[in-house]
Amino acid sequence: MHDCIFCKIVRKEIPARILYEDEDILAFHDIRPVRPVHFLIIPKAHVATLYEANMDHHRALGRMLAMSGELARQAGATDGFRAIINCGRVGHQEVYHVHMHVIGGPEPVGPMIVRTP
Ligand code: AMP
Ligand code: ZN
Repeated sequence: MHDCIFCKIVRKEIPARILYEDEDILAFHDIRPVRPVHFLIIPKAHVATLYEANMDHHRALGRMLAMSGELARQAGATDGFRAIINCGRVGHQEVYHVHMHVIGGPEPVGPMIVRTP
């Protein structure tokens, strides 16, 4: 049993605004949204980062991607969105349980990484 915050959300020990749940994944609204649509999709099993992910997790990781469009549309992002998975220190990961951000409009979310001249 993991003490991590997203595992606690999976176990319903702390509240979250859940959008979708099945046996492998959970989707819930980000607590500090950066755009009108901003939710997270996570594997229910604890996987700290994409470095720890392996073929044991392929069904959950596949479902995260496979459900992203339908859930984004349901959440109101009907004209595109961005899916982001941060990994580790360089990727600026803050919560060490793999999660995919789904971030959407209505305005374009901007360039992925601001280029320095
Ligand atoms: P990252 O930098 O990719 O690790 O992003 C972590 C994200 O988790 C941030 O966008 C946080 O706002 C979000 N977050 C942290 N705690 C919670 C929570 N209890 N419920 C929902 N989202 C959360
Ligand atoms: Zn966890």
